[in-house]
Amino acid sequence: MTRFEHSDQMAGVPASDSDKARAVEIRQVELLDLVRAYDPRVDEDLLNRAYVFSMRAHGGQTRKSGDPYFTHPLAVAGILTELKADPATVVTALLHDVVEDTDTTVEDIRQIFGDEIARLVDGVTKLSQIELRSEASKQAENFRKFVMAMADDVRVLLVKLADRLHNMRTLHFFDNVEKRRRIALETMEIYAPLAGRIGVQRFREELEEISFRELNPQAYEMISQRLAVLHDSTVAGVVELAQVLRKNLADAGLNAEVHSREKRPFSIWRKMSAKNVSFDELADIYAFRIILGNVEECYRALGIIHATWRMIPSEFDDYISAPKPNNYQSIHTAVIGPPTDNGARQRVEIQIRTREMQDTAERGVAAHWRYKDKGAGGSSNVEIQTAGLHDPYETPRRLVEMFQQGEDPDEALKYVKLELFQDQVFCFTPKGRVIALPKGSTGLDFAYALHTDVGDSCIGVKINGSARPLRTPLKNGDVVLILKSENAPPPIGWEAIAVTGRARTGIRRRIKKMKYAEHLALGRSIAENIFDGVQLDLTPKAVRAALQRLDEDSVDDVFVKVGRGELSVEKLVEAVYPGAALEVEGELKAAKVTPTASRRSIEGLPAGARARLAKCCLPVPGERIVGVRDGQGIVNVHTIYCDSLDADAPEQARWIDLRWRDGDDITAGSRIRVGVRNEIGVLSDVASVIARYNVSISNIGMSERGRDFVDLEIDVIVNDARQLTQMLAGLRASSNVVDAERIEGTEDDA
Ligand code: MN
Repeated sequence: MTRFEHSDQMAGVPASDSDKARAVEIRQVELLDLVRAYDPRVDEDLLNRAYVFSMRAHGGQTRKSGDPYFTHPLAVAGILTELKADPATVVTALLHDVVEDTDTTVEDIRQIFGDEIARLVDGVTKLSQIELRSEASKQAENFRKFVMAMADDVRVLLVKLADRLHNMRTLHFFDNVEKRRRIALETMEIYAPLAGRIGVQRFREELEEISFRELNPQAYEMISQRLAVLHDSTVAGVVELAQVLRKNLADAGLNAEVHSREKRPFSIWRKMSAKNVSFDELADIYAFRIILGNVEECYRALGIIHATWRMIPSEFDDYISAPKPNNYQSIHTAVIGPPTDNGARQRVEIQIRTREMQDTAERGVAAHWRYKDKGAGGSSNVEIQTAGLHDPYETPRRLVEMFQQGEDPDEALKYVKLELFQDQVFCFTPKGRVIALPKGSTGLDFAYALHTDVGDSCIGVKINGSARPLRTPLKNGDVVLILKSENAPPPIGWEAIAVTGRARTGIRRRIKKMKYAEHLALGRSIAENIFDGVQLDLTPKAVRAALQRLDEDSVDDVFVKVGRGELSVEKLVEAVYPGAALEVEGELKAAKVTPTASRRSIEGLPAGARARLAKCCLPVPGERIVGVRDGQGIVNVHTIYCDSLDADAPEQARWIDLRWRDGDDITAGSRIRVGVRNEIGVLSDVASVIARYNVSISNIGMSERGRDFVDLEIDVIVNDARQLTQMLAGLRASSNVVDAERIEGTEDDA
């Protein structure tokens, strides 16, 4: 919520105005001096040649401001020297626009400045050519390209961020309001969070402030004005409190710098919107930063502060012991300070850190480069040193991974944005590895963050030693142990309790795979059953020959479609054996249901009459039946309880007494509806219950009933009504089944 200037800034000094380009034009010799000040080994010749090359290449080009174009790359280089970036990065900054805006090619750069610089310039050029806030359809794909281009070398991103910072500082020279807004949005959504992720807080804060002023000028003005008023009324108290802090620390023999921290309009605005609190509640807080020589002194200072004033436990965080993934380290605490003039006790927020940590907090990845030893291979002579620290490449790499795993780039973009924005929680493996996750993440997110395999076999979680529900949101500092089991199917609802894109994609992919296997097994057994019944061979070879007709790629895909209810067995038979009729005797046919009841199953039909089972009631053997002759002379076979008989009130004369013939070989098709839980394994459970009653499935259809339930419509072939009733009872007894009933009649029946 507060801003810290790297200069030794005390309360009372106004924030520097980012409106004015800070890096005023730097001369060649000055740029060299700036780099030499922190890197005596700098290749002066290389830097000078880049300076001259860029100035000549950009020649008479000008900026919107009217300045010569070269002032821009020069300012970008200047910004990077403030971060004490390695010389190759500074050289890249000087050259970052020559390939895009002049006749120079990457090959030219390679000839003159070598492989490393050429590679970096190429990377920045690629980033610049990608329009991130393009049409919605291209956005995700463009962001994917963007992530790929920066993933190779984090210095590419560093130069791009400095470039964007200078462009933001000079944004007001653009007249086109729409364009300014687009650039500001892109900066707020993508560049500022990225700067935060690689630890360059200085960039992040300034990018946010300028974007905020552009995107919401009224709010920016309102907060700035109120901050100015507040400043006047609190400056005396701040100075006094700083003196008390200094004295207390000095009395304990600690040599500490005490700075008051300024409040930035955007961070106040963000908290006002996120926590729904008023300006007064947020801004009227004293905030200090204390900088010390080493870690031990930091903890001593913490002890002194806590001994002097009462701490607020919920506000305490120790990022020295557990650094953030962008390597940020500091102790954060808050205390109830001494009473002010009007008697109120003031909340005081304090950050405690070493000078080195301060440096890392400001410079991020730029703070960790060093020269490689001479003779080491590779084209780069600089490496990012990360021993004992989090890998600064992790963020780009994680983003890349997300795009590679995600099936839908739009979804991936959504999650990437979510991950960039959300506040994080930091949790630990039992061995002490830090895992950073977006706020609200659960054990599932943790498991997938460790490794896809861990996520795939996760069945439960222990948090701080006790078993907890997987949906429990993780908190800072939680020690998380993932309970695993191979081959345990993930409940469908798990996707909803995962927050990270990585976990969601992982779960979705796994569910898809397991559902595929389940549908395959079911589809194959249904098909085999039916083909068997009509004495046709269902060999893979026969199905393969029909693939083109079925418009499928593989035999497995065909069976999966049957198992999913998207392909009826009748159609499959027709495709594999064109012209082969399913009707054994061609007469008694119930539409949609595979006819296995035939003319010879029924006694009492007039000689030569054609008959079919009525769709409205689908009578099965054992039920009392009656025939009704229709206009075409076909005998429709109904149960005597069928509703359609009453409704139509047919003339008595057309009724024909019928009955089922006895015999084991008599079967009929029927249809049932089974409501089941939407989980992996439920389908095969239902199929095996049905098989236990010696009933076979001839077709299956399914429709989701909400997220948690699925309605199955299953066509079955039964011997008689008793078997059907018993099977339904068996289904209802299954823990996976919510309800099961016979469907007696379909509405479309004539
Ligand atoms: Mn540029």
